[in-house]
Amino acid sequence: MQAVRLMEWKSDPILVEVPDPVAGPGQVVIRIGGAGACHSDIHLMHEFEPGQLPWGPPFTLGHENAGWVHQLGAGVQGLEVGQPVAVYGPWGCGACPHCLLGMENYCENVEAAPIRGGGGGLGLDGGMAELMLVPSARCLVPLPYGLEPVDAAPLTDAGLTPYHAVRRSWAKLVPGSTAVVIGVGGLGHLAVQILKATTAARVVAVDTRAEALNLAANEGADLTVEPDQSAVATIREFTGGRGADVVLDFVGSDATMALGAAASRFLGDLTIVGLGGGMFPFTFFSLPYEVSVQTTYWGSRTELVEVLDLAARGLLRPTVTTFPLEEAVHAYHLMEAGSALGRQVMVPSDAS
Ligand code: NAD
Ligand code: ZN
Ligand code: ZN
Repeated sequence: MQAVRLMEWKSDPILVEVPDPVAGPGQVVIRIGGAGACHSDIHLMHEFEPGQLPWGPPFTLGHENAGWVHQLGAGVQGLEVGQPVAVYGPWGCGACPHCLLGMENYCENVEAAPIRGGGGGLGLDGGMAELMLVPSARCLVPLPYGLEPVDAAPLTDAGLTPYHAVRRSWAKLVPGSTAVVIGVGGLGHLAVQILKATTAARVVAVDTRAEALNLAANEGADLTVEPDQSAVATIREFTGGRGADVVLDFVGSDATMALGAAASRFLGDLTIVGLGGGMFPFTFFSLPYEVSVQTTYWGSRTELVEVLDLAARGLLRPTVTTFPLEEAVHAYHLMEAGSALGRQVMVPSDAS
């Protein structure tokens, strides 16, 4: 079969022919219906040195995936060949306290996981191929009726990651509150939809690109702001001088962290999701009192079930552009150049 593989650090992936995977005991092979391109892949391709991560190339890219069950390994129960499924991407040990609660993104026994701190498309072979090997039925979630794999794929990361970040701050997103989304790309455009679908907060979207701000406005953002010198003042004015109860930073640069901190309200949450490599000086006076700052990584299996339910009900509608596997590198280049909108999803020719 064909697969989009990262062959070495600091390179573009290439399309190559690889053997079809075979499901061993307890494993499942799925036929891919969609594999999303995440900005994390671009960080992976260009920013990492050999030895920096516990795993490395060569491997097939694609860590947000959905498709149909293709082959069941010995002993797998509860799934049928042909059934549409989404892949829960963070693969933990399955047995530690966090994994037992479905939070394999925060597995505490990574030595016993299929790969240390990675998953399919992150050290092991991912979904930018016709078939993908999934280590356990535990890592698959059946798609609710009406949801197609091509739309479900981006929901497994670009949907799940912001859903987790929003959900943990739900208690602060009451009527009268304001949430700020910085970076309205693959994750950010779904963050706007998730805030609208699950909270009563007013939503402010911040992006350097006019087309991304237009997308946010179409999805219900109450205010769109360019991250210029007046951005903090604009957000403060919109909130009656108080600032934002929750800031979700999907960029993570020096500039966006500084913007998020300056726009926060007393008692707020400043949540850094983007891997932009920025720094923020944490001092007693660098943030309004009792602002909590945290990073988040992906989400839980339970939260993925909830995200898929929201989508099946039409409350989440990822903006998706599809590409054949042959155009994966082009799709990544569009993302890097800031010419992509929403999510770019690779669809193998046998699935389109
Ligand atoms: P994307 O390229 O689709 O979107 C990024 C958006 O940010 C674009 O719309 C871009 O115009 C905008 N942007 C860039 N610089 C900006 C600035 N200074 N101010 C405002 N907006 C700016 O990327 P994506 O796939 O949505 O990923 C976003 C980030 O989240 C990446 O760093 C990615 O690696 C990271 N990520 C983190 C997790 C996690 O679990 N923490 C999961 C997935 C992705
Ligand atoms: Zn990702
Ligand atoms: Zn675990």
